[in-house]
Amino acid sequence: MKPVIQTKLPNIGTTIFTVMSALAAEYQAINLGQGFPDFMMNEELVALVNTAMQKGHNQYAHMNGLALLRERLAEKIERLYAARVNGESEITITPGGTYAIYTALTTVLQPGDEVIVFEPAYDSYIPNIEINGAVPVLIPLIYPGYAIDWNLVKQKVSAKTKMIMLNSPHNPTGSILGADDMEQLRSIVKGTGIFILSDEVYEHLIFDNKRHESILRYPDLLERSFVCFSFGKTYHCTGWKMGYCVAPAAMMKEFRKVHQFNCFSCNTPLQFALADYIQQKEPYQQLGTQLQQKRDYFQQLMGQTKFKALPSYGSYFQLYSYEGITEEREKDFATRLTKEYGVATIPVSAFYADGKEDKVLRFCFVKKEATLEAAVNRLIKL
Ligand code: GLN
Repeated sequence: MKPVIQTKLPNIGTTIFTVMSALAAEYQAINLGQGFPDFMMNEELVALVNTAMQKGHNQYAHMNGLALLRERLAEKIERLYAARVNGESEITITPGGTYAIYTALTTVLQPGDEVIVFEPAYDSYIPNIEINGAVPVLIPLIYPGYAIDWNLVKQKVSAKTKMIMLNSPHNPTGSILGADDMEQLRSIVKGTGIFILSDEVYEHLIFDNKRHESILRYPDLLERSFVCFSFGKTYHCTGWKMGYCVAPAAMMKEFRKVHQFNCFSCNTPLQFALADYIQQKEPYQQLGTQLQQKRDYFQQLMGQTKFKALPSYGSYFQLYSYEGITEEREKDFATRLTKEYGVATIPVSAFYADGKEDKVLRFCFVKKEATLEAAVNRLIKL
C-alpha cells in the first residue's frame, strides 16, 4: 500500500500569477501580468545590504524581527498616521505581505468561522481561509468602480462572522477606500467581536492626491485589526519577500505563536539595510507621484487601442475592459493575447470564486516606459 494524499484545497490549482508568468516566458511575451517592476531598485539600498553582510549580520535575526527596524517602523507609523504603535510588542517582520495575511488568518480562525471577503479578491485569501476550516462569505464589489456595498455587508454579518478582510489600494482593481467607507466599517463592527484584517501592501502607491485610509488612523478599528504591509512594493524589490504586520499586543502575541514555528525569523541583512534606509529616506510622496506618472503614461498609450480604461487610484494595476474587442472568456482572451500578440495580463475572473466575468483584464503598469510602449504597440494590432 502507498500513501494517498488527500487534498486540503480541492478547488485550487496553480496561482494565476505563476501560470501567466510561465506562459509569458514560454512565448517571450511582455509580462504585464504578475505585479513587479522591471526597473532597478534603489542602488543605495542594495549597497546597504552588502554592507550589512560584510559587517557580519548573517545569522538569525530575532524571531519578531530586528528590534531597530521595528522601532523605526513605529516612528514612521506615528509620523504618517499619528498612531502610537509599540515596535516591541505590536509589530512583527514577516517574509512578505502574503505570509502576514496567512499568519493572521491562522491565528484567529476556528473551524466554521465566517470571514467576509470582497470580490474580486486577491487569490490567496479564500484558500487561506478554507485551509483553516473557516468559511468565506463573498460580497461582490460594485462594478465598474469596485466600491463596497455596505448595506450588503450589514446583511451578511452574522453571529458567526469572525473577521472582515479589507484591501486598499485594492488588488486587482486599483480602487481605494474613502473616509466614508471607514465610517461605515466603524459603525458595523462597533460593539461586536469582529476582527479586521487589512491588506495595505500598496499603502504608498496612491494617486491623484488621495489619502490612504489606513486602519492605523482609526484607534477604534486598530484595536481589533491585523494590518499587513510590504517592503517589496515600497522599495521596488518584490523578490525580497519582506513585509510586516501591525496588531495590538494581545493579538500579536498569538500571531507570534504561529509565526515562530513557521518561518521563525526573516532575512537578517535585509532588515539591517531597511532599518538604515527608512531612517534616511522617506520617498513615500514621491513614490505615489512616480507611479501616477506611469499610470498616466500607460493610459495615454492605451488610448490608441480598443481597450477601455477603468479607474485606478492606487496599486500597481489598471483594469481595462475589452468589451468592444471580443466576447471571449477572460482566461481565453488573456491566453491568446500572450501567445498571439506577445503581451501577458491577468484575467480578473481568477479573483472570483465562481469565475465571474467582468470582461476585464488587469495590467501592471510599473514598468519602464520602453516596456509599456512595446506592449501597447502590440495591443494596437487588435
Ligand atoms: N502580488 C502580485 C500580483 O498581484 C503577485 C505575487 C505572486 O505572484 N504571488 O501580481
